[in-house]
Amino acid sequence: MNNIQHFNDLLDEKDILSLADDKAPFLQDWRGNYTGDAEAVLFPRNTEQVSAIMRRAYEQGIIIVPQGGNTGLVGGGIPDNTGRAFVLSLSRMNKVRAFSEANRSMVVEAGCILQDLHKLAEEHDLYFPLNLAAKGSCTIGGNLSTNAGGVNVVRYGNTRDLCLGIEVVLCDGRVMDLLSPLRKDNTGYDLKQLFIGGEGTLGIITAASMKLFSLPKARATALAAIPDIATGVELLGKLQSASGEQVEAFEIMPKTLLDVVLKQFPDIVRPLDPIPDFMILMEIASSDARDGTEDEAGRIPILETLEEFLADSFEAGLITDATMARNETQRQQLWDIREHAPESTKRESNPVNSDISVTRADLQRFYDFAVEEVKKVCPESRICSYGHLGDGNLHFNIIEKEGGDPDWQAKKEPLKAAIYIALAKVKGSISAEHGIGVMKFDQLKQVKDPVALSLMSQIKHLLDPKAILNPGKVID
Ligand SMILES: Cc1cc2nc3c(=O)[nH]c(=O)nc-3n(C[C@H](O)[C@H](O)[C@H](O)COP(=O)(O)OP(=O)(O)OC[C@H]3O[C@@H](n4cnc5c(N)ncnc54)[C@H](O)[C@@H]3O)c2cc1C
Repeated sequence: MNNIQHFNDLLDEKDILSLADDKAPFLQDWRGNYTGDAEAVLFPRNTEQVSAIMRRAYEQGIIIVPQGGNTGLVGGGIPDNTGRAFVLSLSRMNKVRAFSEANRSMVVEAGCILQDLHKLAEEHDLYFPLNLAAKGSCTIGGNLSTNAGGVNVVRYGNTRDLCLGIEVVLCDGRVMDLLSPLRKDNTGYDLKQLFIGGEGTLGIITAASMKLFSLPKARATALAAIPDIATGVELLGKLQSASGEQVEAFEIMPKTLLDVVLKQFPDIVRPLDPIPDFMILMEIASSDARDGTEDEAGRIPILETLEEFLADSFEAGLITDATMARNETQRQQLWDIREHAPESTKRESNPVNSDISVTRADLQRFYDFAVEEVKKVCPESRICSYGHLGDGNLHFNIIEKEGGDPDWQAKKEPLKAAIYIALAKVKGSISAEHGIGVMKFDQLKQVKDPVALSLMSQIKHLLDPKAILNPGKVID
């Protein structure tokens, strides 16, 4: 029997997509690794509708797969290919419910696009610091559900750290209102933390209260060549101290990545010549406008701070070359390189991707182990390891040799295994910021503490006894 009839009376006709062509964009992930099927895509417009959908789904035992902007990288928002599930897209729930300059918080619906929240905060002379290359498409509900990281974690933390409260619809339609933007609330267990990073397996996040910060008024950005990763880590500690904890981003990029970005996007400006083996894109920011204003001597304090730091680092042999952005255009040119990294590697090859984290102190050790293991499997592959050095988080990706490798498909699994052999040696995490989804569903069982796994299973069973919420993701 067709299940769509159970939802027809709950939503407007235009808020249900059931034709194959219409549904297609919601059934494949951004990388094209996962394709599924669904009876329909549902677009509720408010929490009451989400609640009614879940009540009906619970009664009928219908599978619901929540989805935001569908930019997730582990297949978490894609249904399986049975065609029995319904995708529940939060994208039409995008109202701002409240904004408080005094509390420095905003209450927004789950479907709000991240970039729109940046603009909203800026209109109030405030700042919402979560920032990632998918900002124009990803939603705050998806960011919360994956506990997204991004480029500013080194200063502001993950999405979890930016969240004051959430509203969640449970699998049976009950609405849990934990939306209060209180900055302190020790009334028992902090249940919102279960749903943040829950990847839609425990409930549907319909709205959230998020923290706001002072808007940076002055920025200094530079790209510096470093001899190796360990030096990058040393440099970070020094810059954090020298700048008074103003480090907003500290991203590592290797030559292999720049070569690919410049090849795939020829309009991107080559920042250094020659391109060194490793580079750090660093940014410091201050909310004090005077830091970005010329003094009587014509100097801009924040640029002076970074310039002096680079000069000292050069003298100490920590960096070998550098370029500093002198205006917003030049700053954007440097960021363009980093922001085009995921798209460039996707165009260049069908990469082996990873999203690992280790302690900052272990980054070099992990990298050396991983290179050694990878070379055993495929010496001619290109290692394209970039990411959030400030958080000990590398996207240690591997792409096939220039011109293609006819056996690449067969090498991908052994190459992936090589990365994780190295990771186990330094006790790192298999997922720093992208989550588990389908991609790491089996792997999680091998690496997670068994007591923790068993508790996770019990929590899943408690909150979703009929297994209708995003089954096959994260945990059984
Ligand atoms: C180019 C690019 C760059 C990226 N860079 C980063 C980065 O730097 N750091 C980082 O952490 N991630 C990054 N990502 C991946 C990141 O996970 C997503 O960009 C984002 O957090 C997911 O938001 P979304 O709205 O697209 O969620 P979706 O992809 O739609 O969903 C992701 C997961 O959350 C669930 N979900 C979505 N909405 C809800 C909801 N309202 N309630 C319950 N469950 C829900 C889904 O079922 C799925 O499991 C990047 C992705 C791309 C394509």
